[in-house]
Amino acid sequence: MYETHLRCIYCGRKYEIYPDREPSELNGRLLCPYCSDKHKGIYGSLEVVYDYEKIKEIPDINKMFKRPIETIWDFGFMLPTHIKPITLEEGGTPLYLCKRLGEYYEIENLYVKYEGVNPTGSFKDRESSVAITRALEIGAMGVTTVSSGNAASSLACYAAKAGLKCLVFAPSSTSIEKLTQIGAFDAECLTVDGTIEDVWETINAGPQSNPLAIALSKFIYTYYYDCNPALNPYRSEGDKTEAYEIFVSLGEVPDWVAVPIGNGCNLIGIWKGFKEMVEIGITDKLPRIIGVQVKRGDPILQAFDKGIFTSIPILNPPHSIAEGIVARDSYDAPRALMVMKEAKAKAVAVDDEEIIDALLTLAKLEGIFAEPTASTTLAAVEKLREAHVIDKSDKVVCVVTGGGLKAVKEVLTYCRKEVKPIDRIKRGDYNTLFRDVQKIARKHFQTGSSTRAMRSEL
Ligand SMILES: [Zn+2]
Repeated sequence: MYETHLRCIYCGRKYEIYPDREPSELNGRLLCPYCSDKHKGIYGSLEVVYDYEKIKEIPDINKMFKRPIETIWDFGFMLPTHIKPITLEEGGTPLYLCKRLGEYYEIENLYVKYEGVNPTGSFKDRESSVAITRALEIGAMGVTTVSSGNAASSLACYAAKAGLKCLVFAPSSTSIEKLTQIGAFDAECLTVDGTIEDVWETINAGPQSNPLAIALSKFIYTYYYDCNPALNPYRSEGDKTEAYEIFVSLGEVPDWVAVPIGNGCNLIGIWKGFKEMVEIGITDKLPRIIGVQVKRGDPILQAFDKGIFTSIPILNPPHSIAEGIVARDSYDAPRALMVMKEAKAKAVAVDDEEIIDALLTLAKLEGIFAEPTASTTLAAVEKLREAHVIDKSDKVVCVVTGGGLKAVKEVLTYCRKEVKPIDRIKRGDYNTLFRDVQKIARKHFQTGSSTRAMRSEL
């Protein structure tokens, strides 16, 4: 137990961490009351602060970052918890050296941190494990979040494990795969039309909201512990373990880490992880961060390019296969933008064509099937390499935040149309089968044998 307090990242005010309740000064929310509601977007985000001097004194602290990691709780000394954690062995995910893709992109040391092997198939399980453990600590009976899908399906999973009720809100366009997970874990899911921000504003009663909306918001957070990625400070604590694990796997800090950004929670957590390793003397290097959003659905990147510290709302964000990050007005933008400035980040926006190309190239050359949202990091790195921002010899880590089975419909449509038509053949129709197999073998091995010649060989 090395955590000391919660700190408002805007005004620096400190709030005590109690083992069995959240601070009463926060009035039932997890935002600094002095900073929230004064501005548009979320201000007053809190972060967990530790006694880093004390952590430095842990015997063999360096060895903690040099051993095989199985779950995020191997870093339990850097996580804020007072009870036995609720865990499904999340974390400890592989860092793959991508030789063939690296040759294709002309990057000698290209790595993928593959989060698809987590229990529900995304990095969100790291967050959920920590947040659900906290919910149990403080005696919550239920949990809630607004989510584009992955945070909700993960929260539902860990709530099931913990025996907590779970109510989630998602856009009605959320993929059937994620909705299925939510349902299987017996969570209640209410979908709202529009973007993730439309859902967010509906549930969280913005300043212009009517009295009924305000009452609804109050009602929800009276009964359900707030596990919203942008609000609950314990969630980022789970994300920061990605940075620790990257360091452990590589034995050093890479030159670049590419992260998809919806609201920027993962980016914020990963950056905190790298900074903490510097703080406790594990390394003295910080990586450059690459923040990736969707072209024309990129309010954070547009603000970053203009040097503004609130997001620039997008009037009509496009439909995108990267449903996890396409944004109209990222509500945690101020915090993400602070991190991007500090991290001297590179901002890259990619479109659906670039995303699907990166997804299929990664799958084809490395055997890694990534969710479209997660594939954006590869597309961004390819662009930065082409622009010579990334050097050939740089060590580059792409965080692939979720597995491909999270949203297959549009990828399958694309595969059928552009890549591999999947033929239906009648049982016993050996003529057609022979013709097709021969066609494929000819493509694979450039064999010139005719069907007749092949038959005569049999
Ligand atoms: Zn504050």
